[in-house]
Amino acid sequence: MAELMKITGLKKRYDNNSGITDIRMNISKGTIHGFLGLNGSGKTTTMKIIMGLLRKDGGMIEYDGREYDPANVNDRANIGFSPDLPFYPPYLTGEELVAVYGHMRGLTKSESKKAAQDLLKMVELYDHRNKKVGKYSRGMLARVGIAVSLIGDPGMIILDEPTSGLDPAATSTVRNLLGKLRKDGKTVLLSSHLLGEVQNMCQNITIIHAGSTIMEGSMNDLIEKFSNDQRYVAEFSKISPTIVSEIRKVEGINKVQVIDTEGRPMKLTFYANSDIRENVAMIAVKNGSMMISCTPEGQSLEELFLKLVGNRDDKLP
Ligand code: ADP
Repeated sequence: MAELMKITGLKKRYDNNSGITDIRMNISKGTIHGFLGLNGSGKTTTMKIIMGLLRKDGGMIEYDGREYDPANVNDRANIGFSPDLPFYPPYLTGEELVAVYGHMRGLTKSESKKAAQDLLKMVELYDHRNKKVGKYSRGMLARVGIAVSLIGDPGMIILDEPTSGLDPAATSTVRNLLGKLRKDGKTVLLSSHLLGEVQNMCQNITIIHAGSTIMEGSMNDLIEKFSNDQRYVAEFSKISPTIVSEIRKVEGINKVQVIDTEGRPMKLTFYANSDIRENVAMIAVKNGSMMISCTPEGQSLEELFLKLVGNRDDKLP
């Protein structure tokens, strides 16, 4: 797939010596690209540099095969942006707000109005277009932010934590909206500190840690990496040493550990590279016990980081 934005060796050092040291990223045209990292890893700094709100100290950004200069208004017109927790003037209506941004992007008054109305239809806020944004709910603000980022039809939009603080219903609306954007061939860079959030929305991801890129690839590759080593927690009516040693012998199971619950060992955790729940249940039955539950643990981004960082030869700062 054709590359739309390529970032190499991006650097920014703040006065206190923190910042980013080596961000690289390849964003393909027409994809929703997840930009993942723990809080403080450098996502905002990177996005601000792309938006021309901060100056880089090194590295290169290319857009559509050419060097991209964030200080150049024409270059920046290619990128739309919706910040996390934006401040929008509360006295403007939704339509006025989106139109104001259209005006800033060089559209005429009537073009801005028309584009604002079309975009508000797309984000399902058309019926609320004459309501003041000060009266919008958090979910409505997230959607109007996406409309703002899209005005002027930029080639790529950047959404910073678009679902943070949203309830599940509002999150699902944003997710559907992103699906729609993808169908329309839009390219989206979506930042988040929640792996679960990007898992359902993004085709590709870049993971950064302490100011550097530590992994980039397709979501499917990452999921494969994940499921290769799924952690399970299994609960039994009782556990004997024989049960533990038999479970240890099952092919694909490793790192079996007994969790001592109130003096009586009833729980085990282990990692497995395939679904072994039936095997484990059989071992329990054969040894006069019963498997009460066996649940694959959802792995957190922190765990993934530990795994990724732990596998690296060079040490991170
Ligand atoms: P993220 O968006 O992933 O939470 P940031 O880009 O905000 O990460 O921060 C990256 C690093 O730079 C952190 O160590 C943070 O403390 C530091 N940092 C961010 N903004 C500033 C600033 N204006 N002045 C000094 N340090 C900053």
